[in-house]
Amino acid sequence: MDQTPAIIDLRSDTVSKPTPAMREAMARAEVGDDCYGDDPSVIALEAQVAERLGKAAALFVPTGTMANQLAVSGQTRPGEAIGCVAEAHVQVHEDAAHARISGVQACSLGNRRGFEPADLEARIREESCGWPRLSLAWMENTLGLAGGRLWPLESMTAIGELAHRHGRRVHLDGARLWNAHVATGVPLAELAGPADSVTVCMSKGLGCPAGSLLVGDAELIAGARGTRHAFGGSMRQAGVLAAAGLHALEHHIDRLADDHRRARRLWDGLRALDCWRAVEPETNMAIFELEAGRDAEQLCAPLREAGVLCYPNKYSEIRLVVHLGIDDAAVEAVIERARRVLA
Ligand SMILES: *Cc1c(COP(=O)(O)O)cnc(C)c1O
Repeated sequence: MDQTPAIIDLRSDTVSKPTPAMREAMARAEVGDDCYGDDPSVIALEAQVAERLGKAAALFVPTGTMANQLAVSGQTRPGEAIGCVAEAHVQVHEDAAHARISGVQACSLGNRRGFEPADLEARIREESCGWPRLSLAWMENTLGLAGGRLWPLESMTAIGELAHRHGRRVHLDGARLWNAHVATGVPLAELAGPADSVTVCMSKGLGCPAGSLLVGDAELIAGARGTRHAFGGSMRQAGVLAAAGLHALEHHIDRLADDHRRARRLWDGLRALDCWRAVEPETNMAIFELEAGRDAEQLCAPLREAGVLCYPNKYSEIRLVVHLGIDDAAVEAVIERARRVLA
């Protein structure tokens, strides 16, 4: 008898709900008016995240999208370009904010697994032929659309060195940098090392209800603080949210290893189905590729009927994401339900 919940939600790691202990921490939070710079919980979270990432300063913002857009706005000028993979979150899931707000274009480098220094160098060389200046090299770790793939540290380091040699800035969209850290054992500060600015989300694998941070040097963050206000992102007693972040830093990082183990179990339990090709997970997501041109919604619909919520990652691809709200029993139930409706 299946004792698991009727609905198991694997759409994203953003769907997790704060644990009772996290809600406790939020209820007890010391707060102040963060626009006046006097919310002690926000100050503590910004200081702890900056320290863990080995940077001078951090800024607490409502979303990862805002952190990314502050990074664009603070490190480019209108008419320039940012260079990222074609499937980067900034290029496909931020409603062209980089173009609308900062007046820059995104140019695609490499493939879904990342790009190499040679790709960046070739693009910079074209500037001698009149191409717009690529002022910001943009990496993402883990790579979300590619299914939580890891961007190797050696590659990030080489890209950072090359960009800096050419006088360009470097941003790391580390919405899931925590997962990369736990999966590889590389310290957060080393992963952040190649970048001038880093985005981290508290609301993905770490399980907070909301909140992200932009991390970087003091000058960038001071500028971003002003721009955050212009974007309408200054919050008042935001310490209620920051307290969730402080709780997560202490209690929810190491446990990401459980999510990674469970994503592998999902892959292992479902790879025998011949309706798709299961890609071996590197972190907390399992990707299932369908035949080219086949509509993934045709498989997502019966899965939803069976109580497994998911959507197409791309037109011909399904993504199942493991998070704080998914235990071993839920994973086994997903495998059982999917085998039943898709076999
Ligand atoms: C989720 C995500 C973001 C944006 O975060 P929001 O809080 O949803 O705005 C940015 N980059 C990546 C790689 C993400 O996965």
